[in-house]
Amino acid sequence: MTQEFDARRLNLNAFARDGAQLVGHERLSHFQRLMDEAHGLGGENVLQFTVRGDSRPIGSGTEQVWLQLAVEVVLPLTCQRCLAPVEIPVTFTRAFRFVASEEQAAAEDEESEEDVLVLSPSFNVMELIEDEILMGLPIAPMHGSCPEPVKLQVADPDFADEAEEAANPFAVLLQLKKNGMR
Ligand SMILES: [Zn+2]
Repeated sequence: MTQEFDARRLNLNAFARDGAQLVGHERLSHFQRLMDEAHGLGGENVLQFTVRGDSRPIGSGTEQVWLQLAVEVVLPLTCQRCLAPVEIPVTFTRAFRFVASEEQAAAEDEESEEDVLVLSPSFNVMELIEDEILMGLPIAPMHGSCPEPVKLQVADPDFADEAEEAANPFAVLLQLKKNGMR
């Protein structure tokens, strides 16, 4: 009989040993910290995830526990230009290696390409997903072009002009063309 695995209470050793895989989805409303970032919007958006366990021998009969995680979701964040909601697609795949202690994890995380975490018999993958998304959020999410014209509330007219030009990709193209013709 195949063992059933629960993404919220994952027995990492068994999951890795079996080379098991969990594919699932969860509504955004189940992730409180992401809902805070989205100011309560997009609770119905579906987050897709795949997590795969992997046990890698490192000699002398010892095995290392690895997880491969892939996540896909659309987050409604706040556009930093017009302050309206902007849908930001978030997709990533990441590898995690598990070690026995907090100290070892801290020491090895520095010099490893993969993320190093502490092994646990009851690991919450959903919490890891939330952590990873929060760490990777864009600092200034923005619309490619804002739905409403931006009313610039600035006293300095030079600053206003610059902001307008920066927002208009054609202005940049025009500038490039001009330079090319010289
Ligand atoms: Zn905008």
